[in-house]
Amino acid sequence: AKGAGKATWQRYRSDLHTAMVERLALRTSLLEAIDAQQFVLQYQPIVNVRTQAVVGVESLVRWQHPERGLLAPYHFIELAEESGAIVGLGAWVLRESLRQFAAWHASDPEMALRYVSVNVSARQFRQPGFVDQVSQALEDAGARPEWLLLEITESLVLRDAEQVWTDLKALRALGVRIAIDDFGTGYSSLSYLRQLPVDVLKIDKSFIDDILDSKQQRALVDAIVTLARNLDLTVVAEGIEDAAQRAMLERMGCPYGQGYLFSKPVWPAEIPPLLILAVVP
Ligand code: C2E
Ligand code: CA
Ligand code: CA
Ligand code: CA
Repeated sequence: AKGAGKATWQRYRSDLHTAMVERLALRTSLLEAIDAQQFVLQYQPIVNVRTQAVVGVESLVRWQHPERGLLAPYHFIELAEESGAIVGLGAWVLRESLRQFAAWHASDPEMALRYVSVNVSARQFRQPGFVDQVSQALEDAGARPEWLLLEITESLVLRDAEQVWTDLKALRALGVRIAIDDFGTGYSSLSYLRQLPVDVLKIDKSFIDDILDSKQQRALVDAIVTLARNLDLTVVAEGIEDAAQRAMLERMGCPYGQGYLFSKPVWPAEIPPLLILAVVP
């Protein structure tokens, strides 16, 4: 047993070592990767829960790594946050998302797609001049502010509230909309929500996962949807994977949804065909 324990410990040490070396290697190449244009964006449709028609898309970054292939954000976003590389990466994501949306719009000005939703990390949001960066990006892309929805986290709004609130108001004054991502996983009290300068709540997937099996989770989602409606906020339910979840959300009156049931994140060229699918009456 002692020998087995030692073998396990050595394997653990060696795994730990490999993980550290990997992190270090990724960290170094992360900074170079932006210059080398190794990042790409996929887009996941956001749909009307009732008709399933696509109304918007969320841009999701991937790293086309020369040796390791296409990497999901899970492999590098945290590292990018820690190292500060997220500021440059986030700026690129914003510009590229707007450029892509403007290109879709130019090829079909009548298209049903109304907006692109862009994730903004706390560190990126808090950097001085973020509001100017957004308005410059809109101008450079020839994009209208209403085409842009910025997704921020609950914790950002709760921490250093004052500067963040000022900036949120400035962004909304530009005509840009704001969403709280992963809503429900943070600590925002519901009374606070009334005053928050935001437009959209994205209900976290963890709530949607249990919506059929757990009466409590169902009641919670129902309450969020009702509250949002009364506060003139829009709601997007995240991570809808099956038809029964969709039906339940429709019954609750949840207006918008996103999830594998409708579409996984796809490449830009795959979006226009999704817009012409027949709308269920
Ligand atoms: P998120 O913002 O909550 O994005 C939703 C994630 O859930 C995406 O994972 C999406 O592919 C996944 N998803 C959507 N529908 C379903 C479903 O029905 N089932 C399951 N199992 N998953 C679903 P992804 O693309 O791996 O992104 C993970 C996270 O990385 C994002 O979570 C976001 O926090 C972060 N991220 C992605 N792109 C960016 C970016 O450009 N900037 C920043 N700051 N963060 C990003
Ligand atoms: Ca998001
Ligand atoms: Ca989310
Ligand atoms: Ca999430």
